[in-house]
Amino acid sequence: MMLHWLEQRREELLRFAGELVATPSPNLPGDERAVVAIILAELERLGLAGAEVAAKEPHRPNVIFRLQGQQPGPVLMLCGHSDTKPVGDATHWRTDPFQPVIRDGKLFGLGSTDMKGAVAAMIYATAALKHCETPLAGDVLLVINADEERSMRFGSEFLSTEYGLRADVALLGEPSGIDGPEFEFLHLLSRGISCFKIRVHGTQMHSSLTDRLPSINANVQLAEVLARMSRELRLTFQSHPLCSAPTVNLGVKIEGGVGYGVCPGLAEFQSDIRTLPGMTRQQLEADLERCLDAIRRDNPGLRVELEFEQPALDWTPPTEVSAEHPLVAALLGAAEQVLGWRPKLCAFPGGTDASKFHAVAGIPTIPSFGPGWLNLAHGPNECVGVEAIIQAAKMYSLAAQTYLSGARP
Ligand SMILES: [Zn+2]
Repeated sequence: MMLHWLEQRREELLRFAGELVATPSPNLPGDERAVVAIILAELERLGLAGAEVAAKEPHRPNVIFRLQGQQPGPVLMLCGHSDTKPVGDATHWRTDPFQPVIRDGKLFGLGSTDMKGAVAAMIYATAALKHCETPLAGDVLLVINADEERSMRFGSEFLSTEYGLRADVALLGEPSGIDGPEFEFLHLLSRGISCFKIRVHGTQMHSSLTDRLPSINANVQLAEVLARMSRELRLTFQSHPLCSAPTVNLGVKIEGGVGYGVCPGLAEFQSDIRTLPGMTRQQLEADLERCLDAIRRDNPGLRVELEFEQPALDWTPPTEVSAEHPLVAALLGAAEQVLGWRPKLCAFPGGTDASKFHAVAGIPTIPSFGPGWLNLAHGPNECVGVEAIIQAAKMYSLAAQTYLSGARP
């Protein structure tokens, strides 16, 4: 019934996805008002009246629509972000990034894969549930948030803190293909991120006097510290079945010294570590200090210190939804029915709004199951499969129906 309803509206759904792409919402600068106006008009047109707009600042609106079930039960949040990355260098695009073009079964345009295709699919999935009067024991909470691509302050962070968003489980429609087919993976885990600096002190002085007076060159010391840490740093973690190890990127940025004529007095490098469930900031700090202590012991004159970035850059925790969660079974069942096969369970490589919804608001959040390919996001000639948008709408509506059927294993 719902699948038929959606099949009848293929052209409408694709037209709406195209309209979202044609309405710019790049972040920076960050202003979702125009795209939210399109979303609100479409919700009205589809008979989903009564959406709420919640905003920390008026130009950063979030849309929240509740489809109330006939029976009480859990709240399933279907969530997508309405902002995109900026265009960047437009000369690499073969089409106008704001002019949706369908070619070879794909919809091209900025934000098509990340994630306006999924937003359109979630809205139509909700409309299908409503129009087919699908019995629901619990509510579908449709959340289209702002500001995923930059600070999250006006979107998932605002909703998780000041607004007080509540749901029992959330699904983000981030693109879940990587280099294979669309819907290749169902991502249950989102790695965390920890950012910090290692700072090395030297003696800032006239470089012509370093043969006569004691001096320490902070840049040379930094090179030594960076090389040793990259060889010797050992992190404490437990390998996860969906993701074997954290990533360690030391020296993602290096700064130091003043210039010719000056012995460098200060140098530092930034580093980021993508963490696994079970890792803690305290343990990570102990691992880093242990490594630095070994370097200090071998260089008695060395002054080196560790400084974590300000929150939340210092520690955005990893998140994970159990493979046993009933929504996972509902999504796999929906995939089997619509695609004819089951996506592999996996860990999402990048950061998502799960870091707020899950870690701050306490809503277990599946970070990614959506049309498109993650490797095309944030780059030129971004596109999403046309058929995948329709399939996503079908799978979201079926999974909601199953999850909110009132039956629990
Ligand atoms: Zn995204």
